[in-house]
Amino acid sequence: MTNQTPVQELFIYNTLSRTKEKFEPLAAPFVGMYVCGPTVYSDVHLGNCRTFISFDMIFRYLLHLGYKVRYVRNITDVGHLTDEDAGEGEDRIGRRAKLEQIEPMEIVQRYTHGFHEVMALFNALPPSIEPSATGHIIEQIEMTKAIIDNGLGYEANGSVYFDVEKFTTQYNYGALSGRTLDEQINNTRDLDGQNEKRGRLDFALWKQAKPEHLMRWPSPWGDGFPGWHIECSAMSRKYLGESFDIHGGGMDLIPTHHTNEIAQSVGCCGKTPVRYWMHTNMLTVNGKKMSKSLNNSILPVELLTGMSVAADSPVATPSLAKLSGPHNVLTRGYSPMTARFFMMQTHYSSTLDFSNEALDAAEKGFMRLMAGARQLTKLKPAAQSSVNIAELRTACYAAMNDDFNTPILLAHLFDAVRMINNIADGRETITESDLAQLTKLYNEFIFDIMGLKDDIGESATGSTTEGLMQLIIKMRAEARIKKDFATSDLVRDELAKLNIVLKDGKEGTGWDIKA
Ligand code: AMP
Ligand code: ZN
Repeated sequence: MTNQTPVQELFIYNTLSRTKEKFEPLAAPFVGMYVCGPTVYSDVHLGNCRTFISFDMIFRYLLHLGYKVRYVRNITDVGHLTDEDAGEGEDRIGRRAKLEQIEPMEIVQRYTHGFHEVMALFNALPPSIEPSATGHIIEQIEMTKAIIDNGLGYEANGSVYFDVEKFTTQYNYGALSGRTLDEQINNTRDLDGQNEKRGRLDFALWKQAKPEHLMRWPSPWGDGFPGWHIECSAMSRKYLGESFDIHGGGMDLIPTHHTNEIAQSVGCCGKTPVRYWMHTNMLTVNGKKMSKSLNNSILPVELLTGMSVAADSPVATPSLAKLSGPHNVLTRGYSPMTARFFMMQTHYSSTLDFSNEALDAAEKGFMRLMAGARQLTKLKPAAQSSVNIAELRTACYAAMNDDFNTPILLAHLFDAVRMINNIADGRETITESDLAQLTKLYNEFIFDIMGLKDDIGESATGSTTEGLMQLIIKMRAEARIKKDFATSDLVRDELAKLNIVLKDGKEGTGWDIKA
């Protein structure tokens, strides 16, 4: 199913089967994809962004192949507790609201807005549907009732729990994580307040609201609020059906959130809900997962400015954040597309470590890729082609069809940059139709599929760099006219030390950043 000539079939690594499987949608050309969205009690950090940017690339590639994708990414605005492992503690949003003495929905509105701003900054397409948990309380209650009716849920003191032990008599609870029941039990802590639950692995579908709890709804079991996991089962079912194609999220969601989502959906409808489970790996800092609780999170606005958000800043939304001094990890700011390119350089299922050095290198690579796009518009066609565009095209599709392998794709696109530069230098030639093919290929893979855009050429640093380079090139040309070869060579050698190569051609001197 493709609007291009099919080059190969798409293979996706499925966490459930632990193999790469041929992608066969349930009802092609339609594809249903659900991705767990953010809990909007604070600003998203770059780790969260990595997961959402990876799924944006996946969404874009499926669209490019001609699929009609319904992409559902939820907003968690209730039920995610401070101690989620235990299913205990305060609601994260309710807690923030109490601290600031404002309505929980004000917290939700603020951080949902911030999240949208960040996603737009990173050029992520909006999902087809963005349902919120509080907008689907009825669906969650209905699903909980169905699970009780099927004998897999029970009520205790106004709360409803999922009976994991009973579930395991019919189904494999640990199918997604690959963990045995004993391993899972050993992974849970012995906790107070578990006396309501029949088993250690049981989790809440509905929680009774204590009098001080702000977010509450009436239910057959009294006033309460839904557990965290049930929202994704209820909303994916509502918008994508009882079985759908792709479900995604970060790897950290596998053992609990996604395992419980499967149990609930199977417990309610008796069907395996998801065909392909896809998981992104973590963005790390010095090898440790970037996370709010580890205090090592870097916010998008900090990446852009190289500054820290002030401790008393009410919001860290890029357009509204109050900044303090220089950032303790970042030595300077980077463009959003530099960060997106940095993420595309690594496969979504590998860990990616964030550092200044890695971003500096990514910036150079990204500049080369964008310089290639600009150079491409200036190429002159010839009568014959010495380059093979069909081969390049096959290689690019093969990379993406192999579980969305963007690092391999980028390697091919850098081959294309060399090709473009060789054509510009007159070392290779290209026909008009091949040039049109190359331009289409280059633009489609870089801009439509990887979702990059040229924010370096347009940015202040980009245009300043270009301006400075033109000035240096002009000074060197003047030195050569005066036969001052010592100066012209010095300029060239000093630039080479900075990885900048000057290229003397018929139409003047150009510059490039070395691979
Ligand atoms: P949360 O708002 O905590 O529910 O997280 C939203 C999404 O970000 C989930 O899919 C998480 O798995 C993902 N996530 C959290 N931390 C990271 C990280 N350091 N790197 C990549 N993804 C992450
Ligand atoms: Zn979810």
